[in-house]
Amino acid sequence: MGKRKSRAKPVKRMEQKVPTTFDCPFCNHEKAVDCKIDKDTSIGSIRCRVCNESYQMITNYLSEPIDVYSEWIDQCEAANQ
Ligand SMILES: [Zn+2]
Repeated sequence: MGKRKSRAKPVKRMEQKVPTTFDCPFCNHEKAVDCKIDKDTSIGSIRCRVCNESYQMITNYLSEPIDVYSEWIDQCEAANQ
């Protein structure tokens, strides 16, 4: 029986915490909307886990979940006019 190599713990970088949950403009539930950005495809997707409204958009490397969210809000407002 060999000795088990002690695994080095990965050093976690202190990442700035960006908000990824938002209030839903459709059902008005707070923090019901989850937003994530797929770094491989650059697609930002957002979905409300209460009313299932969803939205997707192409992002760039600077985009953050809040940007996808505000774009979604803009689209909603545009659609309401
Ligand atoms: Zn909703």
